[in-house]
Amino acid sequence: MNLAELLRRTARVHPERPALFHGEQLLCDYRALGRRAACVGGFLRHRLGMAPGDRVAIWMSNVPEYLEVLYGAWFAGLIVVPMNSKLHWKEASFILQDSGAAILFASEHMADALAPHFAQDKTVKAVFVPGTNGYTAMYRTEPLSEPLFRAMDDVAWLFYTSGTTGRPKGVMDTHGNLLTMIACYFMDVDATQAGDGLAYAAPMSHASGMLNFPHVIAGARHIVPASGGFESGELLELAAHHRNVSLFAAPTMVKRLVDYIEHDGGDASGFKTIVYGGGPMYGEDIRQALRVMGNRFCQIYGQGESPMTITALGRHHLQDSLHPRYAQRITSVGVAQTLVELRVCDPAGRPVAVDESGEVVVRGPSVMKGYWNNPEATANTIRDGWLFTGDVGSLDEDGFLTLKDRSKDVIISGGSNIYPREVEEVLLRHPQVHEVSVVGRKHQEWGEVVVAFVVSKNGGAMDAAELDSLCLQNIARFKRPKEYRFVEALPKSNYGKVLKTELRKLMAE
Ligand code: AMP
Repeated sequence: MNLAELLRRTARVHPERPALFHGEQLLCDYRALGRRAACVGGFLRHRLGMAPGDRVAIWMSNVPEYLEVLYGAWFAGLIVVPMNSKLHWKEASFILQDSGAAILFASEHMADALAPHFAQDKTVKAVFVPGTNGYTAMYRTEPLSEPLFRAMDDVAWLFYTSGTTGRPKGVMDTHGNLLTMIACYFMDVDATQAGDGLAYAAPMSHASGMLNFPHVIAGARHIVPASGGFESGELLELAAHHRNVSLFAAPTMVKRLVDYIEHDGGDASGFKTIVYGGGPMYGEDIRQALRVMGNRFCQIYGQGESPMTITALGRHHLQDSLHPRYAQRITSVGVAQTLVELRVCDPAGRPVAVDESGEVVVRGPSVMKGYWNNPEATANTIRDGWLFTGDVGSLDEDGFLTLKDRSKDVIISGGSNIYPREVEEVLLRHPQVHEVSVVGRKHQEWGEVVVAFVVSKNGGAMDAAELDSLCLQNIARFKRPKEYRFVEALPKSNYGKVLKTELRKLMAE
């Protein structure tokens, strides 16, 4: 089944429902949104002659046109290649060539950044920029009467991994993978319904955009903030205006919003569900979030290779504060989502004992078809039907998964494994610590030693000796940072992930 059927159905059943907003301003109802997507599909298919399976790249910031382009491409049976709007043009160019995308939808400044290089890059045949005449002409094309048929294992979403090691790889997510994700969302995350709104505050090329599906199915509102990004004050105003507003946020974004409300005030009652994930949520931070904003949170853990669908920590777990293992549970990523199987394995692929650490592996209909044009990487990553996630974690007796770190982030000092997350959780207990990230630095004698990058609250001075004694009180001596670097901010991607690679570079300088 083609994902575009979801929009087509709501557009027919609830044509009059308000669909798309730019801030507080209503742009169109579902009838119009469905028609626009069908027109974009008609244009791609009949005017540009694109065939099912051809690639269409989207390099746009969060703009209202995002959804019609996405569904338009699917109407025509095409594969969408979403690109992070903050990429360097060289990275974007690599993705365009690797995916062989013939058509690019780009925001103006991205199109400008790429324009000088199109002479060498023969892949892209045409670029469309929302808001220009060349783009709006599509609305006057004959709409496709229905989406082209797509089978469950046809690719829908070719998502390039951030590629912290080597070149980014194209993850082939199928219509079936994303339909599984949607089913799990309703079962494990939130029962989206009419009257709800979804604010696209985080980049639509990633998890935030993926939340569109349950909201399309429910005929709910899609709200693109006027700023196009994550601005706490604006989000609060949008939530107060629209009510029942959900959003996806990386934990670092949740922290910004919560700090904002705590310091500047604001009414959180307009928010329905804040879905967080994509990076570690620390115990101190989720406690603060629950205290300041109430029980409106749900965590998901996934990766491009099993999009949004590995585990979930639902609001019932986050609110169950009397449970004897509550403290441990809120720093976990929850339990396997309904349609997937989850294990933690040793390097030979054998399940390890309860509470033992190993690699997280997952099996089920959410697991990608493979990497684009890369059978070798696919064979390394999917073995006997199990996706090897590269994440290290442990399962407790109730099936709650606690993530330690990406295996590449684990610090090995004097032959012992140190999980940065464990050290970070301890340092965050210091009342003056705002944010922290721990990485390994090469060391002749120990192999690696622990270095902590610390951001203090309100830029105040901090005493390394105090942090050291906090560590001594809570973790083994060998896990203590040997060096503290006090910095103004941590480097982050626009998906909100702390960039440990950048911190390692800083150390090398
Ligand atoms: P991406 O494919 O860019 O979405 O990145 C996926 C990676 O982000 C995962 O393999 C994890 O390392 C990390 N990640 C995703 N969700 C969580 C979460 N809830 N808690 C901690 N790390 C996460």
